[in-house]
Amino acid sequence: MKGYTRIDPEPFPSHTLTRVERPTTTIHDDKVQRVREKDAGFIKAATGDYGPVLEREFKRFIRKHPLGGALSSIRTAMMPLQDGAVAPNKAPLPGDLETLTRHIKETAYFLRADQVGVCRLPPYAVYSDTVEMFNLDAGEKPVELPHKYAIAILVDQDWRTADASSGHDWISGSMSMLAYANSGFIANILADYIRRLGYPAQAHHAPSYRVVVPPILLWAGLGEMSRIGDCVVNPFLGPRFKAAVVTTDLPLLPDKPIDFGLQDFCSKCKKCARECPSGALSDGGKEMHNGYEKWPTDVKKCTSMRVGNQKGSCCGTCITVCPWNKPYTPLHRAVGWAMRHSGLARSLAIRGDDLMGYGRPDSRKKWWLDLEDVDGELQVPVAGKE
Ligand code: SF4
Repeated sequence: MKGYTRIDPEPFPSHTLTRVERPTTTIHDDKVQRVREKDAGFIKAATGDYGPVLEREFKRFIRKHPLGGALSSIRTAMMPLQDGAVAPNKAPLPGDLETLTRHIKETAYFLRADQVGVCRLPPYAVYSDTVEMFNLDAGEKPVELPHKYAIAILVDQDWRTADASSGHDWISGSMSMLAYANSGFIANILADYIRRLGYPAQAHHAPSYRVVVPPILLWAGLGEMSRIGDCVVNPFLGPRFKAAVVTTDLPLLPDKPIDFGLQDFCSKCKKCARECPSGALSDGGKEMHNGYEKWPTDVKKCTSMRVGNQKGSCCGTCITVCPWNKPYTPLHRAVGWAMRHSGLARSLAIRGDDLMGYGRPDSRKKWWLDLEDVDGELQVPVAGKE
């Protein structure tokens, strides 16, 4: 029977990337302290640490657009599926780790992941204490997560929509929620599958992570640390993705970190800092923070823009304007290859990105409706009438 033959399950050629022993930004493994989820910007907004306006807006900043609300509901409905009983007997699995790891990655690609990577779970990537997003009054709970490995799953927020969006309009929140919901869908099924194979596995996805995602993405070879605060940039998707994670004891072969020249690129580019509507991103140098080297971010300003945005839902302007946010067309594949391999190409790409007008919204491609839920009634928002 003639049928469709998949030649390569991966949407992007990760095997062509330069692999290195450690992430390209310094991490002092022995100095990094586990962090409390309570200290995240969104939790501070939700608990009133950033004032009563943001505390009120936090309850509606995604749901005020009906598509964001719909995506957010599905994402939240999946939370009870994150963990469960492990089959009492182990399945007869391939004996060599490479074959087994390949199978797990192919399963994630079958479920429509855009990028998948595996690493050992760094102890400092586990929160020390977490909170329940929808029951903050319950207080903090200490986290015990003894799993050895992490499988990281990236899902694209959609190039076509990003090309039409300013990054802080009425579709911005839905773009995030789309990738959160889809990556959560994949992580929940993958974790359930691994538990059915006889090994412990837990899914971590928005809004309920027990792990801190950026160090996992670095060690799993899915990106480098960028100027956008705690945001990791991927060589094929740029920052235009959201991530979910499965932690497990299923024996796996870890990937190695990657180096595609992003530290050099971000030190020269600074476009996200220039275009950030809240001025939250630094155009200066990197700093050490809790054992990590990274570009500093004003988390309060960033959270205030995302939660308090009155002319749209949320904000992802830094993602939209980043020169690595491009479609995977033959032209951009060639430019991306040059950017990954040549300092001169990186300098030319930084200039060319502005000259070509990338990062500006293309209104001809706008497909969504500007709508805002005001006290239970959908209205055309004032900003949408302009
Ligand atoms: Fe780095 Fe430029 Fe992207 Fe900012 S916009 S993350 S500086 S490449």
